[in-house]
Amino acid sequence: MVAAAHDLAAVWATLEGVPDPEVPVLSVVELGIVRDVEVDADGRLTVSITPTYSGCPALQVIEHDIRDALARGGWPDARLRTVYSPVWTTDWIGADARRKLEAYGIAPPPGRAPRDSGRDDLVLLQRRVPPVACPYCGSHATTMRSVFGPTACKAVMYCDQCRQPFELFKAI
Ligand SMILES: [Zn+2]
Repeated sequence: MVAAAHDLAAVWATLEGVPDPEVPVLSVVELGIVRDVEVDADGRLTVSITPTYSGCPALQVIEHDIRDALARGGWPDARLRTVYSPVWTTDWIGADARRKLEAYGIAPPPGRAPRDSGRDDLVLLQRRVPPVACPYCGSHATTMRSVFGPTACKAVMYCDQCRQPFELFKAI
């Protein structure tokens, strides 16, 4: 079998070493960008990725970084497949990754209500922003300074308690 020629665990390990360009404390695997790793019928490695925020300019950088890491890992002919459905959500960021974000000074995205039968459009109606805890002191006395931070994925917050500005990874 051609599949045996590829050590899929090694591929995942390589991808776990690729940081997200906008949130370098997390890998593209931890963010849930890498959806699947498989070997096609023709024996080529195919990595499926889902863009995070639609229109996020980082996608090209992410694709480049993944190709680069795979080539260095011994898979120069790996194929990248972009998967748009299901739509990426911050809910795919695991508990460990959320703790890493917090330790890095970025408030992790608030969890959302469970999705109802995949009706993504309903989520847009949720405008209510749950209280965001300051990653430095844990206070919920925080206010949003700007909806768009250094990247569109993050908002700039301010803690009224410890008077530190911090970034919030917006939930989608
Ligand atoms: Zn604080």
